[in-house]
Amino acid sequence: MKLTNYVNGKWQDAAGAEFAPVLNPANGEELAQVQLATAEDVGAAVKAAKAAQKKWAKVPAPKRADYLYEIGRLMKERKEHLAQVLTKEMGKVIEEGRGEVQEGIDMAYYMAGEGRRLFGETTPSELADKFAMSVRSPIGVVGLITPWNFPVAIATWKSFPAIVAGNAFLWKPATETPMMAYEMAKIFDEVGLPEGVANIVFGSGSEVGTAMIEHPDIRVISFTGSTETGRKVAEACGRNLKKVSLEMGGKNAVIVMEDADLDLAVEGILWSAYGTAGQRCTACSRVIVHKDVKEDLQKRLLEKIGTLTIGDGLDESVKVGPVINKKALEKIHSYIEIGQQEGATLLTGGTILSEAPYDKGNYYAPTVFSEVAPDMRIAQEEIFGPVVSMIEVGSFEEAIEVNNSVIYGLSSSIYTQDVNRVFKAQRDLDTGIVYINAGTTGAEIHLPFGGTKGTGNGHRDSGVAALDVFTEWKSIYVDY
Ligand code: GLU
Repeated sequence: MKLTNYVNGKWQDAAGAEFAPVLNPANGEELAQVQLATAEDVGAAVKAAKAAQKKWAKVPAPKRADYLYEIGRLMKERKEHLAQVLTKEMGKVIEEGRGEVQEGIDMAYYMAGEGRRLFGETTPSELADKFAMSVRSPIGVVGLITPWNFPVAIATWKSFPAIVAGNAFLWKPATETPMMAYEMAKIFDEVGLPEGVANIVFGSGSEVGTAMIEHPDIRVISFTGSTETGRKVAEACGRNLKKVSLEMGGKNAVIVMEDADLDLAVEGILWSAYGTAGQRCTACSRVIVHKDVKEDLQKRLLEKIGTLTIGDGLDESVKVGPVINKKALEKIHSYIEIGQQEGATLLTGGTILSEAPYDKGNYYAPTVFSEVAPDMRIAQEEIFGPVVSMIEVGSFEEAIEVNNSVIYGLSSSIYTQDVNRVFKAQRDLDTGIVYINAGTTGAEIHLPFGGTKGTGNGHRDSGVAALDVFTEWKSIYVDY
């Protein structure tokens, strides 16, 4: 199968274009070939989107929302198929694949509802016989750059608010996971979204991403990816006076206090550290544990890790799938040596699984380090794999301090039964998302998603806050 760009309501003829293979991370099998577009392709797509957006902005928002209801309906009808495609190209286990598609469906209906709200404000004017109000108005053509770890959910967090607010979009999915984007293009096409409102251009960040960021007619960039790339995106957008929303890395911690329900904590750690093989921005990669329960927690955690089945995520019994590619495997593995050199103790894992049945895929053993100091690299840097660092603390205050001592601020979690600590923790944990007695993952689509410090730049995906990215406030005064 050859995946080509979807622009102006048509699949593009990609004669002469370059293509790259799309590989199944579970077994190395080639699933498809994806077009590697050029800056010229971006230019053509922007032109189409610009023309379409002028008309789209005039369609009443509740009517724009009708398309989202249809998109949600089709996604629901195809949920199992979409989940299977997702698992094949990205590797997450099928249960998580279904969950991710469901997030997209929920986002479609949630944002469709916004079509009937998109609330503005009226305020009393200072002057007599004058009316004052402000409304949300569409921005124009917006650029969406999405990662491979959530090939559909993150795209829906961005594209659905963009659509309902009256923008046209150009979406560059990650080249590792273009098949979900292709499935979504088919859905956009089938629901009859006007030509040019939804455009998908496949290709590399250096070519397609750069062309989008530099294009003067793309007025917003919404980016999810690494902090390193996000910084470059922000710099270029700053130079071009372009609005930019960034969702980047995390170094998320689960705090386990001495009064915690340890079984519950182990469950939360397992799911948030090893789900999606640790490749979530929200993944738990640090466990900050009170010294009184450290040994006990460690023992229970290791026992549970021993029961996790690793393998192809299409197999329903598998709990940990492969990581995305060989490069990721190497990067994760490099941290084992780093951790050991720093003096941490490897309790389990630390290996690339290379013997049959794992030899054809990219499998990494769930890993735990203990005796980790908060300033070690393994406790500071985003590894983006199934690796957890256990850090011992002596008090609640110290736990909060350690949690906040990283450059990131996406998600955090605390297990405690003390209501006073619960309220102090939600106030003092410096992250965009805080969980009490639950792991660090599993954000819901109706709340703002994003983080502080090195994780973001003050914007949010998802929830009603996403509309702030894709609308401008316009203030209107009427003298009468
Ligand atoms: N939806 C995911 C969660 O909260 C996070 C998305 C991401 O990793 O970017 O678990």
